[in-house]
Amino acid sequence: MTLESGSIRIGVIGGGQLARMMVPPAIHLGLRISVLAEAEGSSAARAADAVGDYRDPETVYAFADTVDVVTFDHEHVPGEILRELERRGKAVHPRPDALQFAQDKILMREKLGELGVPIPAWAAVEDEAELQSFIDDNGGRAVVKTARGGYDGKGVRVVSDAVEVRDWFTALAEDGHGGRLLVEELVDFTRELSQLVARRPSGETRTWPVVETIQRDGVCAEVIAPAPVQNAATLDEAARIGAIVAEGVQVTGVLAVEMFETRDGRVLVNELAMRPHNSGHFSIEGSVTSQFEQHLRAVADLPLGDTSMAAPAAVMVNVLGGPAEGPMPVRYAEALAAHPRAKIHSYDKQPRPGRKVGHVTVTGDDLEAVLAEARAAAAAFE
Ligand code: ADP
Repeated sequence: MTLESGSIRIGVIGGGQLARMMVPPAIHLGLRISVLAEAEGSSAARAADAVGDYRDPETVYAFADTVDVVTFDHEHVPGEILRELERRGKAVHPRPDALQFAQDKILMREKLGELGVPIPAWAAVEDEAELQSFIDDNGGRAVVKTARGGYDGKGVRVVSDAVEVRDWFTALAEDGHGGRLLVEELVDFTRELSQLVARRPSGETRTWPVVETIQRDGVCAEVIAPAPVQNAATLDEAARIGAIVAEGVQVTGVLAVEMFETRDGRVLVNELAMRPHNSGHFSIEGSVTSQFEQHLRAVADLPLGDTSMAAPAAVMVNVLGGPAEGPMPVRYAEALAAHPRAKIHSYDKQPRPGRKVGHVTVTGDDLEAVLAEARAAAAAFE
């Protein structure tokens, strides 16, 4: 079934700010977009339509029947549901065979190892004894991660003793699937980098400049685009790794490859995200083609847009909810008034401490000035 207008209908599963930010470029591209949001009042539900549970197969199948292509705002839709959609002839991007590497961090580590890209030392451990022996072999500290379901640092703990994740082992045992935890060496990194890549089903691929990401408490706080050059070779290496991963996992849509730059000049892959990513929000104003527009083009198998910077420097600062003074609309208006050059994005979400409720992007010629203005505007809004 196609529309009389010939428009391609994109269905996004997940109703957060990523789905929400796909809406404006969908309109500009002449695509129809609908969103299956988890709840009334979620960020994208206010901007789009359907509400339902993405873990319920019939809900997802019924939603998919109303669109031509299914894509995502998060990675949590069960693979079996997506494989069934493909069996029924529905286009799903990224495809479940690719998405699994963003859904399960152990599968991701195995795949990256196969592709031969540099990664931290790691193991999949079944119990405290196995975990303790990894910790002991790696200098007495390690990073433990749940394989599935983590985001924004939830599901990541730095430990020196296996008992510190006893609750996770217990939860896995109760789950009955005999799951394992991922443990990794604690990487001594100087900074974190992210390479965004878009790839369409036909194989056309475009990459944005490598960016630097700054996290606080496991949550992305700031992004600097392009990443300041400290050592040109490491940025080239990051770009090389991004291209190998995009091709190696056969992603369709936008992929973020998050990496560590180590003190001794190596680049190690930390994480993969197969959707527009916080490290790419700068691209709405900072790039000729934003990650949201590019994701839509890629999943609709349309030619990809130019990914050059639209200005020499772009800085994005996240706005987190917190115990702010005064009601949100007042602070928002004040921030707009004080920083007319800043692009202040609100996700229309209920503020809670630490919750991402918006972001600010400033572009310009001088990185220091751009950084200062973006921080000031975010602080005024926060
Ligand atoms: P999430 O899926 O919650 O984003 P990540 O695996 O990206 O989790 O980890 C969140 C943050 O924790 C990373 O951005 C990084 O700052 C830190 N981190 C993760 N793995 C390691 C590691 N092996 N060594 C040092 N720091 C790490």
